[in-house]
Amino acid sequence: MKEIKRIGVFTSGGDAPGMNAAIRAVVRTGNYNKLEVIGIYRGYDGLINSEFQTMNNSSVANIIQRGGTILKTARSESFRTEEGRRTAYQNLINAGIDALVAIGGDGTFRGAMALGNEYDYPVVGVPGTIDNDLFGTDFTIGYDTAINTVIEVVDKLRDTAASHNRLFFVEVMGRDAGFIALRSGIAGGAEDILVPESKTIIEDLIDKLKNDRRENKTSGIIIVSEGDDQGGALEIARKVKEKFDYYDTRVSIIGHMQRGGSPTCMDRVLASTLGYDAVNGLLEGKRGVMIGQMNLKTVYIPFEKATKHHQEMNKSMLTMANILSL
Ligand code: ATP
Repeated sequence: MKEIKRIGVFTSGGDAPGMNAAIRAVVRTGNYNKLEVIGIYRGYDGLINSEFQTMNNSSVANIIQRGGTILKTARSESFRTEEGRRTAYQNLINAGIDALVAIGGDGTFRGAMALGNEYDYPVVGVPGTIDNDLFGTDFTIGYDTAINTVIEVVDKLRDTAASHNRLFFVEVMGRDAGFIALRSGIAGGAEDILVPESKTIIEDLIDKLKNDRRENKTSGIIIVSEGDDQGGALEIARKVKEKFDYYDTRVSIIGHMQRGGSPTCMDRVLASTLGYDAVNGLLEGKRGVMIGQMNLKTVYIPFEKATKHHQEMNKSMLTMANILSL
């Protein structure tokens, strides 16, 4: 195996709070180990266009607390083609970059796996996505910050819901996965949580609301994942209102606010740990793996596994949420 002297780091896919903390950890762990660290801008597009910049410890000063990513991120159509990956590989060789740390979600790891397999090139991945849908890690970087943003909004909406006797349908991110909805719904004391992993039956939701009314509840919060099978919050609110118009209903779509903001302590520590472990993993000969954390221990999950499976939702948490909201 070729000795690693120079590594590249990039962020790719959707941005997530804590990515900067991961970049910082990679750069500083690399420099500590006498590696040269190259920052690659705009994800795979930057690999194809050679947007490279040497980074030292001061390049990553004062960023641990900042959301977004100083290296920018992108979704690259060219990298999905063999030609795009060939150009990227040639650029890496020309720049003398011996290995890569890819920070992103499952799409990013699919790209990393393709590059690694086609050119026998060492790449390790760090899970950075607010969705928390990756197999092989309890939490992804950005998830904790996103759910804290949601509960801040939910707490505020509850104040106004209670004052006006209103029912709020709050839409949160999650096209394919309901992890943001599940945890923020539990923490926000939501009356119901609608996720793509579980079939939504409008009549059941209405029954629940009718029962709640008998308990003298006059307001409420329903958390809706954007990917729910009955539609987004607007659509579900409309369907409910059609059959049950007791409540003054409002819809709030939180949107991109969930991606921004200063990362929580949890996300900063997770990102620092995984970035640190990624560089040490590369130096120990690890490649083609995502660096995850399970039960607070570092684990190395082959990209093939991390991209083939999804994190399973613990349905008993939905049951618990239902019981606690009665
Ligand atoms: P998020 O979970 O936040 O959406 P992600 O990493 O899953 O993050 P994607 O847009 O799915 O985001 O993937 C990021 C990039 O990875 C894509 O824009 C593309 O360049 C590359 N990529 C994804 N899938 C493949 C693939 N099968 N082959 C090569 N490259 C891929």
